[in-house]
Formats: sequence, C-alpha cells, structure tokens
Amino acid sequence: MLKGKSAVITGGVRGIGKAIAEEFCRQGADVLLCYRSNEDAAKKTAEELTQYGTRVEVIKGDVSDPDHADAAAKLAKDLFGKIDILVNNAGITKDKLLMRMTPSDFDEVVKANLNGSFYFLNAIAPIMIKQKGGRIINISSVVGVRGNAGQVNYSASKAGIIGMTLSAAKELGKRGITVNAIAPGLIETDMTEILTEEQKKAMTDAISLGRAGKASDVANAVAFFASDQAAYITGQVLGVDGGMAI
Ligand code: NDP
Repeated sequence: MLKGKSAVITGGVRGIGKAIAEEFCRQGADVLLCYRSNEDAAKKTAEELTQYGTRVEVIKGDVSDPDHADAAAKLAKDLFGKIDILVNNAGITKDKLLMRMTPSDFDEVVKANLNGSFYFLNAIAPIMIKQKGGRIINISSVVGVRGNAGQVNYSASKAGIIGMTLSAAKELGKRGITVNAIAPGLIETDMTEILTEEQKKAMTDAISLGRAGKASDVANAVAFFASDQAAYITGQVLGVDGGMAI
C-alpha cells in the first residue's frame, strides 16, 4: 500500500501515466500529475481520481524544459511537504527510418524522453536526499534494450534512460533512494494506436503471451517498485512485455 505517500508522475493524465496515477491513488497516495498540452485529459483525470479520496493536483509544462521540472518539484514539496516517489513516464515517438531521420527528429525525442527524465531526477533527488529516502521509477522500453527499425531516436533515448537508472541507483543507494526502470513492450495506448494493423500483428507475433499489454500491467509493476515490499531492489530493469524480449 502507498497510504500517506506522495508522488510526482510525468505524463500522468493519460495512457500509462494515468493508469499509474490511478493505481497510486487507489493505494492511498497523493499525486501531482504533470502534463504538456492535453487540458481536457488533465481536467477529466483529476476529476475521475477524486473518487479515491487522496489529493490529486496537476501542473502544465514541457518536460524538456528544466524550469518545468524545478516548478513541479517545488509545487509538490509545497503541496505535500515531501516527495516519496518520482515516476518519469512522459515520452514521445517520432518514428522514421534512419535515412529520413533529421537531427531535429532525433533531438526532439531525446530531449523529451531522456533529458526530461534527467531534469526531473535532478530536481527531485536533492529533496529525497534531504528526506533520506525515496523511490524513482523510470519508464524505458523494450526498444531501449533490443532496438527497433525506424526508432533510432526513441531507442537511443530509452537505452539512455537505462544507463541513467543504473548510475543514479549507484549514487543514491546510500541515501536510501532506490532507482529502477520498467521496459514495457507493446501496450495499448494512444501512442500505439497510430501503428498499422500490420505493424501490430508483427509485434504481437513476437510476444510470447500473444497479445498486447494494458496500461494497468505497467502500473502494477510501477506500484511494486514504489512499495515497501521493493525496499531492497534497486538498479533493475523490469520487462513488462508479455515475453517480447525473450
Ligand atoms: P501516450 O502518448 O499515451 O502519453 C504520453 C504522455 O506523455 C502524455 O500524457 C503526454 O502529455 C506526455 N508527454 C509527452 N511529451 C511530453 C513533454 N515534452 N512534456 C510533458 N509531457 C509530455 O504514451 P504512453 O502512455 O503509451 O507512454 C507512456 C510512456 O511509456 C512513454 O515514456 C513511452 O515511451 C513508454 N512506453 C510505451 C509503450 C507503449 O506500447 N505504449 C511501450 C514502451 C514504453 P500530453 O497529453 O499533455 O501531451
């Protein structure tokens, strides 16, 4: 259970981030949800989650702007008095074959996915260090472990997140902070909705369980890393992919 805990979740108002927020609230945590542009989703998610009786707040900003990370860290500290859990979940894709990928396609994806995760880590770790404890969970991808044609930018960002997770786990362990990553496979959200049926079939064929996962499958794993039961687990990359990476 996460009763009495407070969490910051980037990209927390839809898709996997929303499922994480819901699981955290269901388990009794207060949450600050960061979002970039989708006002309707922010309003709707915040309203929906009030059913669990915990505090649900939102903040708008772009994770690729370090000032947004600082503002979110300050707001969460002011609202809740502490930050127990950070989930770096916000992410984008801009898929193209290497021959067509421009430097700006590469930069945009790496800035949002990798730099964004670093900015939040950098803004929130000092607060956790002062508290002498915390949980950081970074959302990587099976593609960061295995690579994927058409995703040089995305896979580089997600592999970078794994390196960052391992190094931060080494630095922060003695401060009582665990840092872990989740590598989801094919999960049904808006991000994968844009794939063609042919692409989805090719991916599903490569999944041992023979089907895509749900956002709640990832949320359950994140909630485990955030829980007291995972107190002695750090620097791990957990695949939530139905066996796709085997
Ligand atoms: P969605 O596209 O459904 O949601 C992405 C979320 O990230 C949105 O809330 C969006 O905010 C936010 N976001 C994107 N860019 C920024 C930015 N620059 N600044 C702030 N917020 C931003 O994606 P998913 O829920 O599917 O993915 C969540 C995470 O899981 C991502 O990191 C993704 O890479 C990873 N993942 C997903 C997989 C899948 O199959 N779905 C597989 C493996 C990993 P807004 O709505 O306001 O734009």
